[in-house]
Amino acid sequence: MSKQISEEIIEELRHRADIVEIIGEQVALRKKGQNYTGLCPFHQEKTPSFVVSPGKQIYHCFGCGKGGNVFSFLMEREGLTFHETVEKLAARYGMALPEREMSPAQQKQAARTKRFRQINQWAMEFFQHCLASDEGEAARAYFGSRGLDADVIQRFGLGYAPDRWDSLCLDLKAKDVQDEELLLLGLAQQSQRNTLIDKFRNRVMFPIWDDRGNVIGFGGRTLGDGQPKYLNSPDTPLFQKGHHLYALNLAKGTIRQLDQVILMEGYMDVIAAHQHGITQAVASLGTALTDEQAKLLTRYTYQSVICYDADAAGEAASMRGLEILNHHGFQVRVIRIPDGKDPDDYIRAHGKEAFQKLAEKALSLFEYKLVITTQKFDRESMTGKVGIIQAMLPELAKIKSPVARQGYISLMSERLSFPEAAIKEELRRHQGGIIVKPAGAATLQSGERAEGRAQAAILRLLLEDPSRLEIVEEAGGAELFENPHAQTVFVTVQALWQAGHQNLTGEDLVALTEADAQRQWLTGILLEEEIPGDPHKVFQDSLLTLKRSRIEREIKKLMDHLSKLETSGDASRANEIMTRISGLNKEKQTLRP
Ligand SMILES: [Zn+2]
Repeated sequence: MSKQISEEIIEELRHRADIVEIIGEQVALRKKGQNYTGLCPFHQEKTPSFVVSPGKQIYHCFGCGKGGNVFSFLMEREGLTFHETVEKLAARYGMALPEREMSPAQQKQAARTKRFRQINQWAMEFFQHCLASDEGEAARAYFGSRGLDADVIQRFGLGYAPDRWDSLCLDLKAKDVQDEELLLLGLAQQSQRNTLIDKFRNRVMFPIWDDRGNVIGFGGRTLGDGQPKYLNSPDTPLFQKGHHLYALNLAKGTIRQLDQVILMEGYMDVIAAHQHGITQAVASLGTALTDEQAKLLTRYTYQSVICYDADAAGEAASMRGLEILNHHGFQVRVIRIPDGKDPDDYIRAHGKEAFQKLAEKALSLFEYKLVITTQKFDRESMTGKVGIIQAMLPELAKIKSPVARQGYISLMSERLSFPEAAIKEELRRHQGGIIVKPAGAATLQSGERAEGRAQAAILRLLLEDPSRLEIVEEAGGAELFENPHAQTVFVTVQALWQAGHQNLTGEDLVALTEADAQRQWLTGILLEEEIPGDPHKVFQDSLLTLKRSRIEREIKKLMDHLSKLETSGDASRANEIMTRISGLNKEKQTLRP
């Protein structure tokens, strides 16, 4: 039930809940200095980079970057909404949540949703009943021919919609369900003679649940000549196409446990997988994976394996799915089923172990694209080879790790029997012929790292002693911070200070930060190793670094401007800019630590 929860309650809970106790129930934590460390529950690792601070009541993983407080931990780890998290913690710490009255509109909405779920539940039970009856013989034979056993039929709530015009309508009307409700839920439709008839007829039925196990819709596969072969519920108040994943309610436990999800295309693939013990499988329900579905999965894991049909449509869907998952930060790999078989057929023929072997050999994003691209060209001919390499250059350019990139260049060279040096040369040209000198790159990176460290140090010391705010403001304020997260933190601290919050802590700021990336950046700087040395000196040195960086950015901007002016030939304006640059250079000289 949705209730409005006041700010005070949330504050109170935040102070009562002990983050070490709550995280400690799911992660083995060891005391290390003032903090605790353990193996991160959000990504797979062998050495602990997950830090929990009892003092600040926050956590951060220095491996994958996840971070937050007790609320974000429970939301992310258990897939709870904020309200559910508050309710869970309140129950645990024996705090009564005052039941604020829901508005009449909210009450009506809640009652309607409950009613719709109940009607869908009745419909599922009706289809199950029909499957077991005399009428269900052909449907039982169909499930039998697909190798499904009684246990899995029960687990997936499978059923049968009889070959009659209005059997479901009659059954539900006897339970006082209104015509309008049947239409809204997509269970019935108007016939040409303007009577109400069942939407699903002579079909085997697959109930679709949301991730909490509420029946929200149905898929039906025809047993006769009915078209289309697969029919899904239309969008209804409970069901929206592309917003749910089939069998997630059954798979979510294993997905968390194994930290992996297997994405399949259809009902039968997932059911076959579960029957054979591959219970981390879900389906995107016919459509290609959507942003909403990827977001839903991030509650449970960031490791995904795509296992679609081996036909052209499956390949296109895999490719789109890969891009979407990649975009949402998933590690993605692709299983290719041999001999063009469907996953369903393969699992039934070869079983769990064979499938697991395929999963272990699943291709990386790059390898999969290489395989697909290779199919489009004649890789024996020279033009074909060049075509493949050209098509793969943007993918190669995206790979940041030099080691991984070298590995893929070797792989391409081997697969295409094409010299490595030539591929590298093509890549160099693709990147505009710009080769950054390694030495230059190294100093640039270490300069950027120093600037990053200085921004973090300033903000951390500022939160330890907010009276330092004035000094930062005098030195340039928000403009000192090149990193947008750092700038947001600074501006927030400034605004809260001005609003009279002079006792602001890092922990408070984490609680106020809703955006994931922003919060994770913040927990990262707050839980970094103690800054060695005298805090006052670190603060002054960091401030100098930021002032210098700011001047450097300003000079770079002016230089860019200048190079544009040189082509247009405005001499007086160019002189003016050069004077400013030399002034800035002089100012920079004075800022030596
Ligand atoms: Zn992690």
